[in-house]
Amino acid sequence: MNIVTSAYDWKEIKKTLPKESIGLVPTMGNLHEGHLSLCKRACDENDIAVVTIFVNPGQFNQYEDYQAYPRTLEKDIEMLMPYSVDYLLLPKIEDMYFFDNAIEISEKQLSKQLEGAFRPGHFDSMMTVVLKLINLTSATRAYFGEKDYQQLSLIKKMAQYLFLPTTIVGCETIRAADGLALSSRNARLDVESRKKAALFAHILKNTSQPETAKAELIKNDIAVDYVVDQWDRRLGAVWINGVRLIDNVALSEVEALGEHTCKLQF
Ligand code: AMP
Repeated sequence: MNIVTSAYDWKEIKKTLPKESIGLVPTMGNLHEGHLSLCKRACDENDIAVVTIFVNPGQFNQYEDYQAYPRTLEKDIEMLMPYSVDYLLLPKIEDMYFFDNAIEISEKQLSKQLEGAFRPGHFDSMMTVVLKLINLTSATRAYFGEKDYQQLSLIKKMAQYLFLPTTIVGCETIRAADGLALSSRNARLDVESRKKAALFAHILKNTSQPETAKAELIKNDIAVDYVVDQWDRRLGAVWINGVRLIDNVALSEVEALGEHTCKLQF
């Protein structure tokens, strides 16, 4: 795995690469098995796999959160070693933002809902960085987790509306044994909060209505930003002991809807 620490070095390297398929996995680092599942697919499905680590300040609503985001480069490199990732690209802030960050793309509908309503500006900045990474790498395919379902939907929409030649590949959510979706934020949960976080995943999947899920979460001392059934998914965002977690599950997998789904089929 070659480690490239600037976008400009990468541009020079890219000129030397054969015209083969390139799989891109954009991340913010602090890697876990969820990220690695994306990396594995990028390696399996492309001639060249590029993983990027860029902690994008524009995606954070509080500067303190950006500063506190775990940066674990050495461990990340170790975790990537068993995979056949060809390049680990670590763009600098100035590579991605230039000196004035004067150009940003903006989505006016989907990005304003749910996560977008709670995190103003988050999605526009995320999409801009993803677009830059896609262009920089000339990715044939780019891999994103269903865990961040609204993000994945927005990236697919961006690729369609901007006629990007890149295929956006959604990858299933990797979960801990107790059902909690893996996330860099989970490390901030103490033992008690970690149990509640597993309950969040369980309640999302095992209640018939979003309102019931919400009531059940609140009963368990979990603060709820939203739980909704939308886009054939149940999506939720909660706060557990100061840590904000998001998750979603296909409605076809919501156990409590099983009977109802069957009825619809007959
Ligand atoms: P992040 O580093 O949090 O920006 O995530 C980088 C990519 O990994 C995004 O496409 C995420 O959706 C994806 N990802 C994060 N957690 C998981 C997970 N548990 N399972 C699958 N993909 C994930």
